[in-house]
Amino acid sequence: MPMLIPTADDAVVTVYSHAYWIARTHVRCFSCLQLSSILGLFFQTASAVGRQEWDSPRPASPSDQARCFQLIFVRRISAATLEDIVRFYLEDIEDFYEDHDVRVGDRYVMNHCHRCRMRFSDRNLFVPPAALFNRPHSARRSPIVMHRCTVPIAATGRKMPIADHLAAAILTATHERIAIPA
Ligand SMILES: [Zn+2]
Repeated sequence: MPMLIPTADDAVVTVYSHAYWIARTHVRCFSCLQLSSILGLFFQTASAVGRQEWDSPRPASPSDQARCFQLIFVRRISAATLEDIVRFYLEDIEDFYEDHDVRVGDRYVMNHCHRCRMRFSDRNLFVPPAALFNRPHSARRSPIVMHRCTVPIAATGRKMPIADHLAAAILTATHERIAIPA
């Protein structure tokens, strides 16, 4: 099955950066109905150097959203990054590991339910129309907490544009930790 991601920049890219953001929010597992943490990786475009594995057929978006992006379908990630996630989210890291997504036909670092280990596909979580982290406040039940990590990172995945309100929160952050209310 071909992977369909309606973004402006859907080629696989390896991002090298000196900083990144780890975002966390919660969703209800559709299998066991318990709330479970969801982690995501975010970058400021200005701090990231990307290398496309092939040329993107479409030009990058010129909008303000292009100043930040989420990296999804993360295939490879540097060990230091995983250590940071352990440091900030100790209780969640065992649910965030590489696994096979049968719907996408690919392996990547995937969120799992902390209770029943159900796989949460990035396609269902992050790709529109779901776009978990991009939802406006009124459409989320759980706040988003973001930690800024200032360590070098190398990660390979697909760039996902983020919503204006989320980009604004990142770009204007004055602390290492920001909370975006539900
Ligand atoms: Zn579950």
